[in-house]
Amino acid sequence: MTGTDCDNRQNKTDIKSLDFIELQEYVLKMGQKSFRAKQLYQWMHQQLVTSFDEMTNLSKAFRGQLEERCLLNGACVTERQISKDGTNKFLMELADGNLVESVWMQYKHGNSVCISTQVGCRMGCRFCASTEGGLIRSLRPSEMLDQVYEIQRVTGERVSNIILMGIGEPLDNYENVVKFIRMVSEEHGLHISQRNITLSTCGLAEQIKRLAEEALTITLAISLHAPDDALRREMMPVAYRYSIAELIDACRYYIQKTNRRITFEYSMVEGKNDSVLEAEALSKLLKGLNCHVNLIPLNPVKGRMGQRSLQSKIEDFKFTLEKNHTNVTIRREMGRDIDAACGQLRNKNKGGKLHESICKD
Ligand code: SAH
Repeated sequence: MTGTDCDNRQNKTDIKSLDFIELQEYVLKMGQKSFRAKQLYQWMHQQLVTSFDEMTNLSKAFRGQLEERCLLNGACVTERQISKDGTNKFLMELADGNLVESVWMQYKHGNSVCISTQVGCRMGCRFCASTEGGLIRSLRPSEMLDQVYEIQRVTGERVSNIILMGIGEPLDNYENVVKFIRMVSEEHGLHISQRNITLSTCGLAEQIKRLAEEALTITLAISLHAPDDALRREMMPVAYRYSIAELIDACRYYIQKTNRRITFEYSMVEGKNDSVLEAEALSKLLKGLNCHVNLIPLNPVKGRMGQRSLQSKIEDFKFTLEKNHTNVTIRREMGRDIDAACGQLRNKNKGGKLHESICKD
C-alpha cells in the first residue's frame, strides 16, 4: 500500500470539494476568521497534506472540529505499476471503496497526469473497456483533485499537465469537472495553467456549447473516430443522440467563442475506419475548421470491438490527411508494456470486470 489511508466515514462535509469562496463561508460559519480559509485551502491544495493534524498554524481545537465534521481524503493510491518507459499507472481507491485508474507520464516538457472523471461510464463506445459495467457514479471535485495530488505526493514530482481521458465521460459530470478545472488552476491551489489541461469528450454537443461559455482556456478533444454517421453509430452509441453535423456545429461554436483549436481523436480500428476513403471523407468534413487530428492506434480490449490497424494503414491515413491539408499527428504510445495490466489492475480488485482507461498522448 502506497500513499495515505482513505477516510471511510460518511455523512461528512467533503471539504476538499469546496472552492475558495465556499470554504471562506464554511470557515466563517464555524466561527473562525476568514483568513483561516486561506490557510486551510493552502494546506489542502498546495501543501497537499492528508491529515488535519499537519495543519500546524490552525488551533488544535479548530483542527479537532474539522476532523469531526469533514472528510479530507477523496482518493488514495492503492496500487502502482511502473512501465519501462517511466509511465506509471495507479489504482486509486475512493472513500466508498470504489476504484478508478490514473496514469502519470513523463515528458521532456513536464509531467502529465491522466485522470478518471467517473466510476465506469454510460456512453457505451464499442471498443472501450471503461463502459462495460455501465456507470456506477460520477466523481466529486475532491476525488479528481486527489488523483493529481496523490500522484504528486507519491512521485515527488510536480504535475504540469492534466488530461481528462481516464475512465468516464467528463461532460456527463459537467459541474464537478468544470469546478475541478477551476480549482486545480487557481492561484491558491496547484495553479496549473488551463492551457495545459485537455478535456476529451465523446461528443455531447449541448454540453460542448455550454462549455464554450465558461471562459476556460483548456484544450478540447473530441472523440470522433469516424467521418460519417453510419460508421460512427456502429462504433459509438452516442452518435445516435447527436449527428456529426450537430457535433461539428457545436465545435464551430466552441472555436468561435474560445478561439482555441480543437483536437479530433481518431482511434484506428483495422478494416473499420482506417481506409484512404475514410481519410478523404474526414479531411472534407474538417475543412476550414481550426483543428488538429490525433490518430490513436486501437488498444484492443478482450470482448470489445476491433483490432489495431496495421502501421502501414495508419501511415497511409496520415499521408492522405496531410495531402488534403489537415493537421495530423499519430499519438505517441507510452507504457505499452503495462497496457494489458491497466484494466486488470481494477479487474483484480473487483473480482471479474475488466475496466480499462486509455491514457496515452
Ligand atoms: N469519455 C471521453 C474520454 C475517454 S477515453 C471520450 O470519449 O473522449 C480517451 C480516448 O480514448 C477517447 O478518444 C476514446 O474514444 C479512446 N479509446 C477508448 N478505448 C480505446 C481503445 N481501446 N483503443 C484506443 N482508443 C480508445
